[in-house]
Amino acid sequence: MSTIRWILIDQLTLSLPIIQESKKGDVFLMVEDRESCTIVPHHKKKLVFQLSAMRHFAETLRAMSYEVAYFDINYFSKGHNRDMQGVLRSVIKLYSSKEVFVTQPSDYHVDEAVSRLCQEAGVTCSVLPDTRYFSDRMVLQESAAANKRTLMEFFYRKMRKKTGLLMDGDQPISGQWNYDKDNRKPLPKAIDIPERLRFEPDSITQQVMDEVASSFPDHMGDVQDFHYAVTSSHANQAWAQFLEEYLPQFGPYQDAMRVQEPFLFHAVVSMYLNNGLLCPKKMCSDVETAYHAGRVSLASAEGFIRQVLGWREFIRAVYWAYMPEYKTRNFLDASTPLPAWYWTGKTKMRCLSEAVQSTIDHAYSHHIHRLMITGNFALLAGLQPESVCDWYWAVYADAYEWVELPNTLGMALHGDGGVVGTKPYVASGAYIHRMSDYCKNCFYDVKQKVGKQACPFNFLYWDFLARHQETFAKNQRMSLAYRNLARMDPKTLAQMRVQAESFRQSGCDTMEDR
Ligand code: SF4
Repeated sequence: MSTIRWILIDQLTLSLPIIQESKKGDVFLMVEDRESCTIVPHHKKKLVFQLSAMRHFAETLRAMSYEVAYFDINYFSKGHNRDMQGVLRSVIKLYSSKEVFVTQPSDYHVDEAVSRLCQEAGVTCSVLPDTRYFSDRMVLQESAAANKRTLMEFFYRKMRKKTGLLMDGDQPISGQWNYDKDNRKPLPKAIDIPERLRFEPDSITQQVMDEVASSFPDHMGDVQDFHYAVTSSHANQAWAQFLEEYLPQFGPYQDAMRVQEPFLFHAVVSMYLNNGLLCPKKMCSDVETAYHAGRVSLASAEGFIRQVLGWREFIRAVYWAYMPEYKTRNFLDASTPLPAWYWTGKTKMRCLSEAVQSTIDHAYSHHIHRLMITGNFALLAGLQPESVCDWYWAVYADAYEWVELPNTLGMALHGDGGVVGTKPYVASGAYIHRMSDYCKNCFYDVKQKVGKQACPFNFLYWDFLARHQETFAKNQRMSLAYRNLARMDPKTLAQMRVQAESFRQSGCDTMEDR
């Protein structure tokens, strides 16, 4: 009789208790569940990354003499009744198992499915902790149940105190918690951006590329030019390169954007962090060490650690405190259909075509693209939240529901009514103009508010403020915006509102308008 130890797609970490506590004769179960590949139409490169990383991890386990029962996507297409229940039942029968161990799943629907499948198969499901995280996933449950809002900044400070990262006793090093204001510089014209490491596909990855291309032909992107790491060793090389070559410039320029520069100084390791190839605790400790060694400024180190220790943990805690109801929220009653160009990049708005093209090419775009370009547009245009959230979940290699949903619905769309963010993150074309070189390469004129060539971010921005005046006018963090709205010439405002409505009604900028 053997115990089944089920390793999920985003748990590819040898240090987890499920592996560390395993005994001789235990069997590791790994499944490329075909249904999960299509729950939303995941980007082809994302599927290549996830499935190839799983197959490499299985090889690592086998090389350590563990027994692995592995079911790839082809298994599910070769006959009837080949589903997750069938997989579990056959493995249980083959190994005469009575117990399945699993590491606490990250996604709500996976958590439910694992318990249900085990119950239906008549085996005990024992859930082991996911020791990669700094906090318990239910850490915000009590305050959420009491309807108390927790601000990310205070959550983050608690986490700094708990871990001691960048701390001097119980105070932050240098006396300041947050250097966000120092991290908003536009990119200088002349700046060297180091060439990024590429990891060419080996035979396993090549095989996955062929299978994904033939199994999911309609999903976004192309399997060709796949260049991500699929092993922990390569992911750590990418991480080492970030520490050495990008981190010193990461902080100041983390909000900057430039035409045909999809990565700039960003780490581009979130996909490794979220599937287990990299360890968040090691990453934070490495960044702190780099600061103490004088290799990076405090602003850059703090900016990075805030994202991993603060933001990422906070987002996970919000997700688990409010699911499953959270997913259905639509605080601003947004209902505009998602424009087709979110899938093709074919829009005259250069900022959006850049952000979407980077996504199509790499299953990646950096956080300011996600928040202030695709997210800002979705919020301003009132795009229907569920379709926007599904888009983010599908197209990014690092996206799992737990991390995507609060970031999109909460932070980008303010659709959760203020659980994640205390104000809507909206900006007109002026912000994009300041932080990028997109506007000078655009069909639209960022200086115009109305008319055929007016930047859509302008009339949508003022229309958004006017439409939601009742909801946000008393929000202190929006007071400057509403003072400016009050000063706006009523005739211009009325024209912008008409143009915004017509823009939404006509499908939000189709190439045919050109
Ligand atoms: Fe984007 Fe407007 Fe600038 Fe064009 S002009 S790139 S639409 S912000």
